[in-house]
Amino acid sequence: MKGKFPVKKFQEIGTPFYYYDTDLLRLTLKTINEEAGHYENFCVHYAVKANANPLLLRIIRQAGLGADCVSGGEIEVAIKAGFTPDKIVYAGVGKSDWEINIGLDNDIFCFNVESVPELEVINELASKKGKVARVAFRLNPNVGAHTHANITTGLAENKFGIAMRDVESIIDHAAELKNVRFVGLHFHIGSQILDMGDFQALCNRINELQDQLERRHVTIEHINVGGGLGIDYEHPNRVPVPNFKAYFDTYARHLKLRPGQTLHFELGRAVVGQCGSLITRTLYVKESAVKKFAIVDAGFTDLIRPALYQAYHKIENITSEDATETYDVVGPICESTDVFAKQIDLNKTSRGDLLAIRSAGAYGEIMASQYNCRQLPKGYLSDDL
Ligand SMILES: *Cc1c(COP(=O)(O)O)cnc(C)c1O
Repeated sequence: MKGKFPVKKFQEIGTPFYYYDTDLLRLTLKTINEEAGHYENFCVHYAVKANANPLLLRIIRQAGLGADCVSGGEIEVAIKAGFTPDKIVYAGVGKSDWEINIGLDNDIFCFNVESVPELEVINELASKKGKVARVAFRLNPNVGAHTHANITTGLAENKFGIAMRDVESIIDHAAELKNVRFVGLHFHIGSQILDMGDFQALCNRINELQDQLERRHVTIEHINVGGGLGIDYEHPNRVPVPNFKAYFDTYARHLKLRPGQTLHFELGRAVVGQCGSLITRTLYVKESAVKKFAIVDAGFTDLIRPALYQAYHKIENITSEDATETYDVVGPICESTDVFAKQIDLNKTSRGDLLAIRSAGAYGEIMASQYNCRQLPKGYLSDDL
């Protein structure tokens, strides 16, 4: 089974480009709202770093999600797309002063603080403005995730977050500072997680921590468990919408929320991953002694995931129905890692054929670069074609 694409329209557009199926995005958002909506104290944010295309952001904002930002630039982009500051959270291991000031000037909902020195700088900058910044502490729960080593974030060896053993002292420290107010705890264990047991392990860790803090009469209003829910890269047609039910139910069942607490989520990949495809044109088919290469006009400058983390993306020839043959699909960049897939079956591919590199909506367009003086890819929405 192949995906459905407006191939005729595609012929009028210069390749490579990203194509976003907005019906699928809307269905995904509806599913999120339904499944999270079973629990009145669940609050879902979209992790802007997965894809900051302003048109997609507007649809996501209209669905009622908040924004999870990891830079000052993302805060600005989110505000421009209409996210209200009271729904913006800001995490990041190295926040510059100007970025913190953007958050303060806009009165964002919360800074997710990752170290003691950062807490002190936020306090100082807030004091200069006569403001009180709401802060949550991003803790490193030392929970492993069964995903690619480059995208785990919750292990003690990762750079992210504050060690669990330091949590009490940083909460005490915050209480002594006049221009910050402690409102919650934040976690994020990694990305492309499909084993609900990983999220369950995080719940268990948080439960232990809450018991420990409760004994010291620390009140926590907000718990933010980050994002990380994965998508099915192998079967984008069969499983276009991730299993949000299993995801939210896991937290509902295993996390012991206290009365009045709000549980926040920050989903990126699961929101936008499946709705996007990178559309590329076949330039040449080159046969060597051992294999056939389909050389396409997209490269890792357009989609770096395969080169960066050996990520798999399903590839379809959307303009050929001929019998399949085996190809390496490679880009034009002068680097050996510029390979989208090795030894995959495609309908017989010729010069001019369009290939769809699927499940590319998250960490695709937004990670594009201009290496080799290439142009950044454009993004088109199905609504507009
Ligand atoms: C990247 C990131 C997310 C989103 O991760 P996904 O795997 O795309 O859901 C959420 N929170 C934080 C703090 C992040 O850095």
